[in-house]
Amino acid sequence: MTDTKQPDSKQDEAVDPNAPITGMDYFMKLEYHELICPVVREFADALMEKRLIGHKCPKCSLIYSPPRGYCPICTVQTTKADEIEMQTRGIVTNYTVVTPVQYYGQEETEPFAKVSLQLDGGGNLSLQDLPGVPVEQVRSGMRVEIVWAPDGERHVDDVTNRSWGSAEGAIRGWKPTGEPDADPSEYSDKVF
Ligand SMILES: [Zn+2]
Repeated sequence: MTDTKQPDSKQDEAVDPNAPITGMDYFMKLEYHELICPVVREFADALMEKRLIGHKCPKCSLIYSPPRGYCPICTVQTTKADEIEMQTRGIVTNYTVVTPVQYYGQEETEPFAKVSLQLDGGGNLSLQDLPGVPVEQVRSGMRVEIVWAPDGERHVDDVTNRSWGSAEGAIRGWKPTGEPDADPSEYSDKVF
């Protein structure tokens, strides 16, 4: 009888104590401390006051939230003079259902949705949560309003230069308003 067992684990390999060391397995942790650029800092400060702000491009009128300090399409700078306060109600334009893979450190166990929003009056946010809404009920056109984290619990520790409007420490998520869904013509050209 032929032994077909493959030497596929390290226990099966003969260890040569004189062999050169080529690698080591170990857990490590890296912490990044990133300086927040001034326009994102203003966005974060506004969140602490339960305000959503963005910059409106003076040339094409696109609204960026969090502000970037420039419009990448028109290549013009945007400043405090271009700041607008956005509404905290809007429409779900599209969404992604995430089915968590149980990799090391994954805390989610059930599928959840991340949604993109078009806010009433203009402006978009991505990577937003709809806590308590079953994923099978999430749909484009759903009208929602913001749920702020309560005073005393609200924080902006997770706001970074790359957070795209996701700020879970300040915005708990969005909840359905119960109004009829928006007609696709209201948002279909704003989906991204
Ligand atoms: Zn522009």
